[in-house]
Amino acid sequence: MSKKKDYDAIIIGGGHMGLTLGAYLQRAGMQTAIFERRHEEGSAIFTSECTAPGFLHNLHAQYMEFLEWMPIWYDFDLPKFGARSLYPSAQAGLPFSDGRPPLIIYSVEKEESYEKTYKSVAQYSKHDAETLVDLLKKLQEIKSIFAQGWYNPPPIPTPEDPEPDNQGGIMLLQQIGLPTRISKMTTKDTIDYLFESDEMRAMFYRLGVEWGAGLDIDGSGAGLFAAIGLFYFNWQLMVGGTHTLAHAMEMAGVNEGMEFFESNEVVKVLLEGKKAVGVQLKDGTKVYAKLVASNAEIEGTMLRMVGEENLSPLWVKRVKDFEIGPSCVLGSTAMALHEAPDFKSARWNPDINKAFYTIVGFDSAAELYEYCHDAHSGKIPKTYGEGIWVNSLWDPTYAPPGKHSLTGWIFLPKASSQSREKWEEIRATWNDNFLKNFERFAPNMTKDNIIDDYFYTPQDQEDEMRLMEGDFCNGGVKASQRGHNRPFPEAAQYRTEIENLYLCGPFMHPGGGASAGPGYNCFKIIAEDFGLDKFWEKLDRGY
Ligand SMILES: Cc1cc2nc3c(=O)[nH]c(=O)nc-3n(C[C@H](O)[C@H](O)[C@H](O)COP(=O)(O)OP(=O)(O)OC[C@H]3O[C@@H](n4cnc5c(N)ncnc54)[C@H](O)[C@@H]3O)c2cc1C
Repeated sequence: MSKKKDYDAIIIGGGHMGLTLGAYLQRAGMQTAIFERRHEEGSAIFTSECTAPGFLHNLHAQYMEFLEWMPIWYDFDLPKFGARSLYPSAQAGLPFSDGRPPLIIYSVEKEESYEKTYKSVAQYSKHDAETLVDLLKKLQEIKSIFAQGWYNPPPIPTPEDPEPDNQGGIMLLQQIGLPTRISKMTTKDTIDYLFESDEMRAMFYRLGVEWGAGLDIDGSGAGLFAAIGLFYFNWQLMVGGTHTLAHAMEMAGVNEGMEFFESNEVVKVLLEGKKAVGVQLKDGTKVYAKLVASNAEIEGTMLRMVGEENLSPLWVKRVKDFEIGPSCVLGSTAMALHEAPDFKSARWNPDINKAFYTIVGFDSAAELYEYCHDAHSGKIPKTYGEGIWVNSLWDPTYAPPGKHSLTGWIFLPKASSQSREKWEEIRATWNDNFLKNFERFAPNMTKDNIIDDYFYTPQDQEDEMRLMEGDFCNGGVKASQRGHNRPFPEAAQYRTEIENLYLCGPFMHPGGGASAGPGYNCFKIIAEDFGLDKFWEKLDRGY
């Protein structure tokens, strides 16, 4: 396929946000091409055979929390293109090294799960069990409001309502009967306000940072409820590996007539005056289009591909000021196992051996707090703990018969906080140290149980995926970089000061995660500018 012809739209980068935008543009009649620097599309929506043959590891995105809402899943019928998911019942678990009863939170998909969650939490505190179940039920009732916030461009501030996101947070708290002062609180203070037992605080300190906000960031309290309401305990697993989601998105685009060019890095956005007219590839080829949208990181897009010299001083400053990390930075562990972990706490409830997401290595809230705090403030955490998945427990395609594949996440400091030599040292030692701690919780997790293992650092995320600093959102989610301020107020509507150049990466609202949100929302803005059919206005889902 020649890439020298002209297109209506060019997308820089085939992460799942770019794939989403492309499929909608092509369907709307815009001949669209994606240029991706890697050998395949999907970016962090990928699966690797990085330990032993036949063992699959989702080194990046593991749990799918948006499938209930994700527009592209339904509008393009992704299951028709091979995307299938399953729904583990025990969603999140916390086992203990002394073998006391585990904490388990079950899926919000089924009504009877609330009783199981209640029983598990009530072993430590009836107050906490009542609070959690009441909260989950209330949030389930209003969750479609969160989806509408996710899959629409952010509200535009007005002189009468200069902070519309804050208003939304306050209304949410009122709706679920909680004091509005929570909107000003940190995640940690909010968790402490809700729960009294050390065990529940420990679990939520880890869960509370999963969407990217640190424990000590002011104004994250309301965000925690949005996260719990929209996507916690609603987690699904992609059958056959997370990469099947990206592949299905790509197939949907192919089916519409879109074109893909892998191993084709874009080095320049071509301009005529202050208007984008195409891109230049690393091999020198120039390709022209009516519009260009970028899934690539914001700094690379604006300061290098467009060039500082073509931007106003305000935009240069805004892009340079945009903070990457620190609380969205992850590393991953992968282990090929003979046996799945058998936790001491399973004698009280065997479901802990089959929890989808298990937080391993921590016995107290203080340990978890210190771990998150260290990682988010540039230090390698002292406790070797992780959130792990053993996907082969549900889906046999993840490991050879009778064997198991384990993958885990660790919050770590930004890539640039350590030298490359230091990251190599961490790669060489982390898994052994983690295993020593793991064995205290699950005695069968000894070296003999490991067939092979691998460690993926934040530096790897930057080098391979261009997720800068290892930040899975390609931009931190502190309060001043969320909603109508993401990435900064002048760019929040997916447009740039360069005419016909748009932004669709996870550094845009609603942020990172396998949500496809920024891609879908960016399409809506382009549809507005180019007079494309606004099909979503005829749907009753509200987005
Ligand atoms: C360790 C980890 C665990 C995660 N776990 C989960 C999870 O369990 N659930 C969940 O929902 N989310 C999870 N995420 C987050 C989610 O995967 C990401 O936020 C999301 O995938 C990022 O958006 P994207 O797919 O568009 O990828 P991006 O990385 O933003 O895609 C950008 C693409 O542009 C390409 N590119 C960059 N520069 C150029 C150029 N010059 N020319 C051409 N192409 C270029 C890159 O190669 C890449 O393919 C996780 C992320 C990480 C890192």
